[in-house]
Parts: sequence; C-alpha cells; structure tokens
Amino acid sequence: MLGVRGSTAAPGADFVRYGGHTSCIGVSRHAEEAPSLVLDAGTGLRNLSAHWDFRPFRGSILLSHLHWDHVQGIPFFVSGDNVDAEVELYLPAQDGRSGEDLLAQSMAPPAFPITPSGLLGDWTFRAIEPGVHAIEGYSVTAADIRHKGGRTFGYRVSDGSVDIAYLPDHVATGGLTDAVEALVAGVDLLIHDAQFLEPERALADAYGHSTVDDAIALASQLKARRLMLFHHGPGRTDAQLDVIADGLDAPVPVDLAREGDLVEVVA
Ligand SMILES: [Zn+2]
Ligand SMILES: [Zn+2]
Repeated sequence: MLGVRGSTAAPGADFVRYGGHTSCIGVSRHAEEAPSLVLDAGTGLRNLSAHWDFRPFRGSILLSHLHWDHVQGIPFFVSGDNVDAEVELYLPAQDGRSGEDLLAQSMAPPAFPITPSGLLGDWTFRAIEPGVHAIEGYSVTAADIRHKGGRTFGYRVSDGSVDIAYLPDHVATGGLTDAVEALVAGVDLLIHDAQFLEPERALADAYGHSTVDDAIALASQLKARRLMLFHHGPGRTDAQLDVIADGLDAPVPVDLAREGDLVEVVA
C-alpha cells in the first residue's frame, strides 16, 4: 500500500499511522520482488521508488481514471522519471483521444510545467477499452464502473491463482452491474472505495463515492473473501479511522488500508 487517501493528500500529525498519500498500490508476486504492476499513480507513487532502490522502473501503471488524486504522483516518481525507465501507462479510453492527450489535460502548461512526453525514459501511454488485457504477466480485466466526472474503470488482476479487485472510486449503490460482478465475484481481496460513512450519505452520492457499509455489502454480496477499505477521506484522522476499524461488524474479513503495509493475498 503506497497511498490510501482519496481526493487530496493529508499531511500532518493526525494522519501518520494510516498515511496521507493519495491512491497508489504496487503489486508483486513475492514480498521481496519490486512491484512491476502499479494500480493508480496518486502521490503515493513517490513511495514506489524506494522499493526499486531508486533504480529505473520497468513496469506498468494502470490508472482507474484521471482525477488528480490518481495521477499527481507521475512527475514525482523518480524511478520512472529516469532516462533508463521503461513504463507502460494504461488509462480508460474516452472521446477518441490518445492516452497521452488525455493525461496532458491536467499535466501540461499552464497547469504543470511539463507534459507527459517531457518525462525522462521510455513512457508509452495507452488508452484502453474494457476487456481482458495481458499486462506484466497478469491477466487484467478492465470494466466500466459508476463514479463521477470522466470514465472510470475497475480492475481485476489475476496471476492465475490469486485474484484481487481494485475499485477505488465507485458508487456501489443503485443496483449491481454485470461489470462490477465480473470484477468482484469471488476475489481473494477486494480493495474498495470507503470514503464516506452512512451519516455522510448525501456527500457520497454527490461526489460519486461509497460508504463503508456499501463496500461491506458489495463484498458480502459477491463473496469476496476479504475486503480492504480504501480511499479514506482526507479529513479522516487516525483516531477516527481507528473508531471505524473498531466498530466493524461484517460477514467478511475487513481491514482498513494503511500506507506502508505489505498485504499478502492468498488463494
Ligand atoms: Zn479518487
Ligand atoms: Zn475519482
């Protein structure tokens, strides 16, 4: 877990235990292997370079969507912004535009000093459609999920024996879609949007997110074997997250994502 926050980074003394960086997860087959598959590129992507001993990154990054909290780590990823890096970056196709053009909408002057093509190393930007893709030796299923403001994919990543599903920004209410069912059914680990609590339902609906209870209901309905609550609200302090953790009552094992944690997933 390289970054577990939603919306915007949360620095400060009240946020050190769960971590303040925005969405980013590294995936590897073994704990000692540097992650070559990365889920989202929030500010937590800065944490990945240390796992590569600051050597050039060779791997792939899957973006769920292009909101700031999922892309702003890209230009600060020193192992990726390296003349010897080789990076394939995948993002949801939309409006017939190239992957590079889509990313450049928020990463180009005057919003940012450089464009995607200004990154050092060999970067390839691929706008992809829903379906099954072979990436870094994994079978990656991409599917449209409900969020707000731009196309959003959820991903299911399988190495043939272990499956994880990643839906960091998702409206889980309003009826189960075939796409969500295909992504989540029976996974060994579901990593899911849990930005809000039930008393904040109006905000969850307005911003296109889920509550903790929504995430638990989805995991339970689709028989995920384990759930990790992710994309914590930026104002949610460590103490408040502890209260959520202590109050969990769910039919599936549930944890709160913490930046820096190594999460072993078994079939
Ligand atoms: Zn987000
Ligand atoms: Zn979003």
